[in-house]
Amino acid sequence: MKTPTITIAGAGLVGPLLAISLRQRGFPVVLYERRADMRRVQVSDGRSINLAVSARGIYALQQAGVWSELRDIAIPMRGRLMHLLTGELIFQPYGQEESEVINSVSRAALNIALLDAAEAAGVAIHFEQRCLGCARADDGIVVRLRDEQSGKETAIAAEVVIGADGSSSAVRGEMSRSPEFRLSEERLEYGYKELTIPAGQGGSHRMETRALHIWPRGSYMLIALPNVDGTYGCILFLPFEGERGFAALDSESRVVEFFRANFPDALALMPNLAENYFANPTGAMVTVRCFPWHQEGNILLLGDAAHAIVPFFGQGINCGFEDCTCFLELLDAARTSGAESIDWQKLFTDFESSRKPNTEAIADLALENFVEMRDRVADPHFLFKKKVDLALEARFPGLYVPKYAMVAFHRIPYAVAQQRGRIQDRLLDELCAGMNRLEDIDWSKAAMLVHRDLTQLGKR
Ligand SMILES: Cc1cc2nc3c(=O)[nH]c(=O)nc-3n(C[C@H](O)[C@H](O)[C@H](O)COP(=O)(O)OP(=O)(O)OC[C@H]3O[C@@H](n4cnc5c(N)ncnc54)[C@H](O)[C@@H]3O)c2cc1C
Repeated sequence: MKTPTITIAGAGLVGPLLAISLRQRGFPVVLYERRADMRRVQVSDGRSINLAVSARGIYALQQAGVWSELRDIAIPMRGRLMHLLTGELIFQPYGQEESEVINSVSRAALNIALLDAAEAAGVAIHFEQRCLGCARADDGIVVRLRDEQSGKETAIAAEVVIGADGSSSAVRGEMSRSPEFRLSEERLEYGYKELTIPAGQGGSHRMETRALHIWPRGSYMLIALPNVDGTYGCILFLPFEGERGFAALDSESRVVEFFRANFPDALALMPNLAENYFANPTGAMVTVRCFPWHQEGNILLLGDAAHAIVPFFGQGINCGFEDCTCFLELLDAARTSGAESIDWQKLFTDFESSRKPNTEAIADLALENFVEMRDRVADPHFLFKKKVDLALEARFPGLYVPKYAMVAFHRIPYAVAQQRGRIQDRLLDELCAGMNRLEDIDWSKAAMLVHRDLTQLGKR
């Protein structure tokens, strides 16, 4: 079977993972990345230092053979540890089995492991080559590139192009010129800033390690994820404007005062807060929805380029890696179909139609989870409902599975998780109305509702 060269724009996370898997299937692959090689030069893009990687991401990394080396640098987080203003700590587990954890993984280490594995698999990676766009020509596709050192522009011929160039994708930019292309880029009025809690003596951790820390404060929040070197990567989420927004924190004293009033225990662990705060950029968060994801059988968008989401469910990269799983399953079916060559247009269309409802669902779930994280996790009735949520799962295994678990610990389609989650939310509201103790729950009513409204969930 003919194996055309696949040209990929973007060597972030999705691009190299797909490249490795395509090489394993015998396709020549060339990657173009606008940044310098992060293994040789310190590159900071101002985005989260670490990422929460869960079932969907791990599965894709396992399929490509790169999870085993990353496992050693992943810190399992068993739940959320809420830091209340009173100093009280409340732990809320994500699941009930030992294996139900999400993993804090260094973004840089993940990127480097993927770049190394891609090169070892025979992928040609060209750094400091910015893709300016690509368009169909009579005999294939022309990709326009700019050398980021010299500024020199070139055009190369390509057969199949994958745009894995992130949320501001240049490949998508060129596709969007077509009149039938639909694009929505919805920016949150909130921004984020990365901060760091330094390690203690001898590289020790100064807070609980097996948890994602949250300081929920109603309309804003701080979170922290542990790193293997004893540090914590923190992200401060605030509105851009207003009294409690980034615009108001315009001096060292205002930043320190804001932390003293809102996150006093975190401030005690951040001796370089103000310096750290002003050294890092304030990032924006966007939900990208576009259609179509491909141009005939020539160009396809994948990962954030097709569907960037806000980070509040910790699913962006898990979703991007699951794109690869889904794409490769369809590619494998096409390769073993007995046809002489792959019908790329059919492959891209099938991929888009099977994947789009799921990326729409996780985009919505991620937006909803922002309200839950910054506001509701500190509410006693919400925490009680979370207990009932887990108790229902224990009583009705496979039938009632909490929404968080369906998204983070299962690989069922996101759209199914969203739909079942809505039914379960209604059911929980009905069972928990006016209650605050597990003993008071009417379990026979619960059994009736669960059996009436839910069907057995398929395997993980
Ligand atoms: C604050 C924050 C926290 C997050 N936390 C999590 C989390 O905990 N869990 C999770 O699953 N997801 C998380 N995400 C989302 C996750 O970072 C993204 O979903 C993921 O990085 C997308 O991978 P990608 O490869 O599609 O895009 P990217 O990682 O953005 O990679 C795109 C690559 O393309 C390159 N590039 C861009 N333009 C061009 C061009 N024109 N030519 C050539 N190269 C180009 C870029 O330099 C980059 O290397 C978070 C995001 C943010 C902002």
